[in-house]
Amino acid sequence: MAQNNVNDIQDHARLFHQDEYQELFKAKKEFEGGHSSEEVAKIADWTKSWEYREKNFAREALTVNPAKACQPLGAILAAVGFEATLPFVHGSQGCVAYFRSHFTRHFKEPFSAVSSSMTEDAAVFGGQLNMIEGLATSYNLYKPKMIAVCTTCMAEVIGDDLQAFISNAKAANSVPQTFPVPYAHTPSFVGSHITGYDNMIKGILSNLTAGKKQETTNGKINFIPGFETYIGNLREIKRYADLMDVNYTLLADNSEYLDSPNTGEYQMYPGGTKLEDAADSINAEATIAFQSYATTKTREYIETEWSQKTYVSRPVGIRGTDEFLMKLSALTGKPIPKELEEERGRAVDALTDSQAWLHGKRIALYGDPDLVIGLVQFLLEVGAEPIHIVVSNSNANFEGELRALLDSSPFGQNATIWGGKDLWHLRSLLFTEPVDLLIGNSYGKYLWRDTKTPLVRIGYPIFDRHHLHRYSTYGYQGAINLLNWIVNTLLDELDRNTIIPSKTDISYDLIR
Ligand code: SF4
Repeated sequence: MAQNNVNDIQDHARLFHQDEYQELFKAKKEFEGGHSSEEVAKIADWTKSWEYREKNFAREALTVNPAKACQPLGAILAAVGFEATLPFVHGSQGCVAYFRSHFTRHFKEPFSAVSSSMTEDAAVFGGQLNMIEGLATSYNLYKPKMIAVCTTCMAEVIGDDLQAFISNAKAANSVPQTFPVPYAHTPSFVGSHITGYDNMIKGILSNLTAGKKQETTNGKINFIPGFETYIGNLREIKRYADLMDVNYTLLADNSEYLDSPNTGEYQMYPGGTKLEDAADSINAEATIAFQSYATTKTREYIETEWSQKTYVSRPVGIRGTDEFLMKLSALTGKPIPKELEEERGRAVDALTDSQAWLHGKRIALYGDPDLVIGLVQFLLEVGAEPIHIVVSNSNANFEGELRALLDSSPFGQNATIWGGKDLWHLRSLLFTEPVDLLIGNSYGKYLWRDTKTPLVRIGYPIFDRHHLHRYSTYGYQGAINLLNWIVNTLLDELDRNTIIPSKTDISYDLIR
């Protein structure tokens, strides 16, 4: 067997090309008795056809690579935005390992979450004992200020009752009676990570704000980010609010947790919205959510239980950012400062510089509903044409809102919204009705490989490129970032397509 020589360590991209590994792969293939290379190539070719597309779109009982994750993943992202809060997942350990590794691969940061480690006996008799022991261990070992509980499929299938279990755990002295243990049922066989986020934010806010309503408001504005994975967006929102001298509470701020400085000392709970500020959010003037479909239940709760006005604003692109700033100004009476007007002017200038390369470009995109609406808003603004829009966690309200947005622009007329479809559907779409550019998360790299459609990585998760999550997609600077990623991918592709000397390089230009 080939060995890595300690004096010449080879990474896997080179190691497995050595003769011994190649022979091993060949022998494995022969042993498995698979189809011939010709047959594989023939079928692969057929999967590019309209005939295959029709069969692919007729499938009902199978999902292949959906662009969504499960509810508890969103719930624990919400939880870590609060001061010293430990996410506690009631269910099996494997699920939690998956959530933690998912976030760590995207953010390149440690992510702490515990589970009640339910196994076969708990699946039969219920997980109450796991909850009682798990809460006590978490409280004593990790010393959090709050433990936020959600569930996996297993706990939901057997019908574990979180409210009763947590009350019983408190009665058994797992944690003090007054210690906050908000919870959210997050069954993964319905909804997606954005539903889980919504459920958990609602659970935490209803727990922390109970009995805190005052006669007068605290003069603040609440911001709810939604399932936000761009740290730069949270920082941009805070910067805008500070520039406008707006008093705000971010519900919740996980920007430090997901991007903490390397000081050489491990901190388990960096940053986070203070629990007392979150408790006082019930007394705010109003709430602005930056995502609609990740905050539906929370906004409904705030409107009905707190009697507080809520608004949705997506500060993406010029128009989206203008609308957000004007809404903030209208709610607070604070003017929009000159500094932001200048930033706006720079963003408009940048869009104008690149517009010729984007006008009429055919785009396919996929992702969460709010991300997709923001991106479509931006694409229409620069004259690009969305063609295929795949949203696995779609719903009728979202499709109605997106259709109205597309109908409002001449560039939106050729778009089809593929609600509930997955990335294997999108593969068929890209083969049969090709586009110039694909926008989505890292899973799109397989579509890029198969269809050769250039991919711009925007969304969650992004595992295979570094640091993109540190940037903003919101605000005027965010518009420049989106523009940069999109136009330069198109220009890279143009270079690749004009690179052959004496053949295509007549257009291999220095100046674009
Ligand atoms: S879908 Fe269910 S079983 Fe799978 S990781 Fe999510 S919670 Fe666990």
